[in-house]
Amino acid sequence: MTSVWAELFDEIARWHDAGRTVDFWWRDDDACHADPALDRLVELSAGAQVPLALAVVAHQVEASVLAPDARWVRILQHGTDHVRRNGAGEKKTEFPASEPVADALQRLRLARAQIAGPVTLPVLVPPWNRIGSVALLDRLAGAGYRGLSRFGARKAGAPISGLVQVNTHVDIIDWRGSRGFVGEASALRAATAHLQARREGRADPGEPTGILSHHLVHDEASWRFLAQLFERTRSHAGVAWLDAQAVFGCRCEGAA
Ligand SMILES: [Zn+2]
Repeated sequence: MTSVWAELFDEIARWHDAGRTVDFWWRDDDACHADPALDRLVELSAGAQVPLALAVVAHQVEASVLAPDARWVRILQHGTDHVRRNGAGEKKTEFPASEPVADALQRLRLARAQIAGPVTLPVLVPPWNRIGSVALLDRLAGAGYRGLSRFGARKAGAPISGLVQVNTHVDIIDWRGSRGFVGEASALRAATAHLQARREGRADPGEPTGILSHHLVHDEASWRFLAQLFERTRSHAGVAWLDAQAVFGCRCEGAA
């Protein structure tokens, strides 16, 4: 095992010494169509017995995507149509401040109905991990959402009323470079750093550490990394991989 793996397991041991269990969760984004990569993803989850939170794009979603292996897969809402609505010079978002809140809420409501099903949770994962409209954030709980997931350690001092925010912290894709696997060292250091920050109180100790993947762009190295991470941690006594219902403290909504 390389040193970056050893650093992760050293950190897990420190949690264990402190009487705590390391809690991870796994989110994968951009599911919409039936696809060999999606099949592989769901098989990886079941084979490794690691729960998968699949963020689904409602626009043109295929019915089979909404009926995955119910033992291991939960469905989250990945925006509505994954279309950029930000202006030039603004960061990428489907939900810019310039869009009237009522329009965004209407789009969300229709999309939410499209992805309703037995394993769907009322959790919003905004495309590009961003909502530019503060007014929209404030209306999400009233629109029926219970959870929100973006990227980066959540800020304990900035809760959004009525929503459980649990983000992801380890993006396994190198979007700015190769657009393939970011590399074992980078991925593992991000995981270890978040765990360390939680243990030392520099990050919210109660936010589970999230792994983010994008099955449609995985190269073999990405698949291999996920399989190794799951294999090496899943049966470790000091580690738990959480189901999204536990992560967000809410239940699936049942078939529409
Ligand atoms: Zn996306």
